[in-house]
Amino acid sequence: MTTPEGALVLFSGGQDSAVCLAWALDRFSRVETVGYDYGQRHSVELQARDAVRARMAEAFPHWAPRLGEDHVLEMRGFGAVAQSALTAERAIEMTAKGLPSTFVPGRNLAFLIYAAALADRRGLRVLVGGMCETDFSGYPDCRRDTLDAMQSALNLGMAQDFVIETPLMRLTKADTWALAQGLGGRTLVDLILEHSHTCYLGERDLRRPWGYGCGTCPACELRARGYEGWLAEGRPAIRA
Ligand code: ZN
Repeated sequence: MTTPEGALVLFSGGQDSAVCLAWALDRFSRVETVGYDYGQRHSVELQARDAVRARMAEAFPHWAPRLGEDHVLEMRGFGAVAQSALTAERAIEMTAKGLPSTFVPGRNLAFLIYAAALADRRGLRVLVGGMCETDFSGYPDCRRDTLDAMQSALNLGMAQDFVIETPLMRLTKADTWALAQGLGGRTLVDLILEHSHTCYLGERDLRRPWGYGCGTCPACELRARGYEGWLAEGRPAIRA
């Protein structure tokens, strides 16, 4: 069952947002994607976006007519203000506040403001994001409480009726693969393994069972552990 409503997926080209895109294509009749150029150290992430979109439309022909425009919003000014390990040459470590240095303060909030402004113009009501508070790296802007507050603020401030959907919020990384399996079987799992990109260092030379990456940065460790956990547990597919 699809709903006639339109959705805008916050789509980085990573594993989580790729699963969110599939989730949205499975249920909404019109789906657009938005990505952000905030001066990431690696454009690999932005290239992965095109590959994932194209392959999904190819492998799942019933999704193809639902997949609408892709938007890339320039947010380099924000990146310059909120500089951290993702946008500058700085080691990935824990800070005094107990947050990884990869945390970009306010990033998800800024992304959502831009996404909502775009959704307003495009006539899309649902914003879909891959935020997750289960295995998450301690990012306070991934919490559902934060997003509930953000949803209220956006609706008040834009006189809108947006809904922020976070299909991965309560899932572990292993569950996320089970959800991909439920949405598109092994074809979708393989497509996401091959074309999505999560490594903080932008490494794409070595193909590992769980995809490409350096294998040692926090994003790779999380991705590898989640994939291996999913295989080991033999978990049944999750239907969205
Ligand atoms: Zn890595």
